[in-house]
Amino acid sequence: MRSTYPTNGAYIDELGEVAIDIAYAGSCTAGKDDDFSYYAMVCEAALREGLVVADGVDCYIQFGSKSVKDLSLEMGWTSIFEKVGVKLIDPGCGACIGAGPGVSDNPEQVTVSAINRNFQGRSGPGKLYLASPLTVMTSAFTGKITSWHPKIFSQ
Ligand code: SF4
Repeated sequence: MRSTYPTNGAYIDELGEVAIDIAYAGSCTAGKDDDFSYYAMVCEAALREGLVVADGVDCYIQFGSKSVKDLSLEMGWTSIFEKVGVKLIDPGCGACIGAGPGVSDNPEQVTVSAINRNFQGRSGPGKLYLASPLTVMTSAFTGKITSWHPKIFSQ
């Protein structure tokens, strides 16, 4: 049953079509081992369909720690990310705190991100939607905010 509590949250099917410019995954919050396994699962599904990150979208994944970065390499995920056009960022505080690649640079830009902060202007002047790791990574390939399901790229 859907909650009746007032929040700023919304279900994806209530948003309408929201085109994105930036998909930002990872960070301290969504850059753990299991998050990376989700990113890899989505990217592998996209790769099987011959897809790369959508035109006009910049997609970043920031490792949550060095051990996650090492695991990603060991599991072959890093190679999958590189093949589909994802840009990988070393562990640290990045676009989440308005630093480095992935920060919006104009108010018209739209970001979907798995970070855990969304204060006005924190990640640049654009609009920012917080979403799950699966949604962020799926959206990178469709170019709009999209929820994951296993046949999303083959239907
Ligand atoms: S700024 Fe963002 S990435 Fe850095 S510690 Fe805080 S929540 Fe994590």
